[in-house]
Amino acid sequence: MTVRTDDVVQVADGVYAVRGALVNWYLLEDGRDLTLVDAGYPGDADDVAASVALTGHRVEDVRAVLVTHAHADHLGAVARLHAAHGTPAYADPVEVRHARREHLEQVTVPEVLAHSWRPRVAAWALRALRRGGTRDVRAAHVLPFPAGGGALDLPGGPVPVPTPGHTSGHTAFSLPWAGVVLTGDALVTGHPTSARRGPQLLPGFFSADPEQAVAALDGLARLDADVVLPGHGPVHRGPVRDAVLRARDR
Ligand SMILES: [Zn+2]
Repeated sequence: MTVRTDDVVQVADGVYAVRGALVNWYLLEDGRDLTLVDAGYPGDADDVAASVALTGHRVEDVRAVLVTHAHADHLGAVARLHAAHGTPAYADPVEVRHARREHLEQVTVPEVLAHSWRPRVAAWALRALRRGGTRDVRAAHVLPFPAGGGALDLPGGPVPVPTPGHTSGHTAFSLPWAGVVLTGDALVTGHPTSARRGPQLLPGFFSADPEQAVAALDGLARLDADVVLPGHGPVHRGPVRDAVLRARDR
């Protein structure tokens, strides 16, 4: 287990950011109830449970897991939460098929190896492997959240923001009441494979459609948010439209 007290930070009223070993996840609180947004690698399952305890809750308080996208570092603990506690999980209708592994849009081991002459990529790949990055994380129980826009009827009332590109059904979640946006991997602020810091896109080889991933930034720039909670890298404070400009500039 690696998550400790200072890895769980309350960033707004009822919004907790959790820094896992290689990926972030988030907890939205409404009274006793929680929404978990993303669920780490398979090897992060104990850390997910530990982070819930560090917010003063029980894992049974998690009403649902919302999945930004179905990569192994975000879907990891979803199947185990369902098996152990019956926790439902929701994603964009397109991403649901990905979560059920009706198709796979994830960087392959040979594709990673092709980039592993870069020391940071090689080091990250080893750590990802140890966390279960190549394990089968399929989650047949994932359901589509209701289409039509607007806040979901879940703790924290997250509003889906379609951000396809990294995967076809990638979704960010906005919390208009808190001025917060959870960007998943559509906009990150750092990644172990890169020395860059600050708002950025992930390296192109991680994305199903890198051009579409750039275009998806428009949807984030339109939001009125000044706290950016990315899938990877530290919390970013400042208008999301400025973060988008910086990511586009790179
Ligand atoms: Zn990721």
